[in-house]
Amino acid sequence: MPGESRFAGRVPRILSKRCPDARLRYNRGVARTRRPKLGQHFLTSENYRQRIVESLSLRADDLVLEIGPGRGAMTELLAARARRVVAVELDAELAQQLAENLKDNTKIEIVRGDVLTADLSALSRRNRFERCVVFGNLPYYITSPILHHLLEQAGAIRAMALLVQREVAERLTAQPGSRDYGYLTVLAQLHAEPRIVLKVPPGAFSPPPKVQSALVGFTMRPKFPAWSAHEREHFLDFVKVCFAQKRKNLFNNLRTTYSHDAIEAAFDAFGISPRKRAEELHLGFLASLFERLVSV
Ligand code: SAM
Repeated sequence: MPGESRFAGRVPRILSKRCPDARLRYNRGVARTRRPKLGQHFLTSENYRQRIVESLSLRADDLVLEIGPGRGAMTELLAARARRVVAVELDAELAQQLAENLKDNTKIEIVRGDVLTADLSALSRRNRFERCVVFGNLPYYITSPILHHLLEQAGAIRAMALLVQREVAERLTAQPGSRDYGYLTVLAQLHAEPRIVLKVPPGAFSPPPKVQSALVGFTMRPKFPAWSAHEREHFLDFVKVCFAQKRKNLFNNLRTTYSHDAIEAAFDAFGISPRKRAEELHLGFLASLFERLVSV
């Protein structure tokens, strides 16, 4: 059957970038995991499912990577608006059931595997696309690793929309001066312009999560396009130091890594007090400081 042959227990190449034997890891570690551990809160509200898919601005020639399709609440809605959907589901039982249910829809491929090992460029190439659109009602317990994994591959993404805990949505979209502004904000805004598209209440899911949720849309736009991947990684390490202890000012955070004189000289050059906190400084300033302190 077409659905079974696509699924058939094989580990597609797109999943083997960081985990050469994803199936082995999967079979050993996850098959016995109980469902609540996989962050399974299914979108059952027809109203919200429609509102979400309508907000995505999908194009008829898009390839969509769906993260954690679960029981397929969104999968067919996505496929109706795109050319192809590849949906990666970690739960073997759910993946198998969904592949069986959707076997007649030739636009959809259900892949059993861990999205944290997905290679987005390989996925696009394998489907003869240049880039993909990422959508996911995320398993909240791994929101941060998923964001890191996706944003590291930002060049392979045309657009992205993720349903996350509302508190995370506020951190992703925060502006300097807000208490939500921190490392996650910088990570997201280094690669994209994120904005809250829709707030989603617990009652839209089954079982309902204990927290409020929000859909965040990301317009992919690298802030410093001339930087290499290595520089971006290096910058994010620097940002981690800046925000290491949010209650401390920038000087006290930075002096765990840099000399007193180097910090003073860098701040003097910009005419800004090192007693400010990192959360007060916009991304452009953090980048200038990084270039001054780290690159010299
Ligand atoms: N998309 C479905 C919906 O909206 O009803 C399910 C969303 S549920 C919040 C998250 C889904 O992600 C679950 O089906 C869960 O099994 C799956 N999942 C959890 N960890 C995953 C991982 N590392 N890779 C892929 N899927 C994962």
